[in-house]
Amino acid sequence: MNKEFSRYGILFVVSAPSGAGKSTLCDALRQTSDFVYSVSCTTRPPRAGEIDGDDYHFLSEAEFAARANAGEFLEHANVHGKYYGTLRDPILRNLHKGVDVLIDIDTQGAAAIRAFDDAFVRQALADVFIMPPDLEELRRRLTKRGTETAEQIEVRLVTAAREMELWREYRYTIISRSVEEDLLKFRHIMGAERYLSGRMILT
Ligand code: 5GP
Repeated sequence: MNKEFSRYGILFVVSAPSGAGKSTLCDALRQTSDFVYSVSCTTRPPRAGEIDGDDYHFLSEAEFAARANAGEFLEHANVHGKYYGTLRDPILRNLHKGVDVLIDIDTQGAAAIRAFDDAFVRQALADVFIMPPDLEELRRRLTKRGTETAEQIEVRLVTAAREMELWREYRYTIISRSVEEDLLKFRHIMGAERYLSGRMILT
């Protein structure tokens, strides 16, 4: 039997409380050619070293609202008082071409994609929750990162505790250890997802 198999792209969604090690993991994954990383839009101001169009598309509230009204987002949410949104077109284009896409979004965004009204998107989804070892470790990591004020860290910790309750909604959970370990676990997930019979197209 000499059949040709191809497949549609996988939409890898990674969520984690801030400071759980997700950005480090996503940065490491972005260095590979395994997938296209989807750059989100946000109304939060850039942090030191962040590049517009690379880390995020930094938009004003008016620009964000206009794009939301034009239906440009696959999902969008208010996180810590700022708006964040995932652009629809580049994701769909890549998935149809068979290119895997990685998005780093919060638990509201992941829930919206799980409930998305297009079965193609729901079937493409492979959602992964990165669980911080515990809240104290999260506090230490956020303090060490030094990009938030003490007050902002407290807000993020409250959100983190709430988000950590949602891990069961995700198909996969990685308990964050070192970057190397997290990366290896993610690669196992990636490998298995690529061989799901349901993802294969026989031509
Ligand atoms: P940060 O401001 O630290 O970069 O991100 C704050 C939170 O917003 C993180 O949990 C991140 O995953 C989430 N986020 C980033 N982009 C998006 C997006 O497009 N949609 C949603 N729903 N959340 C996002």
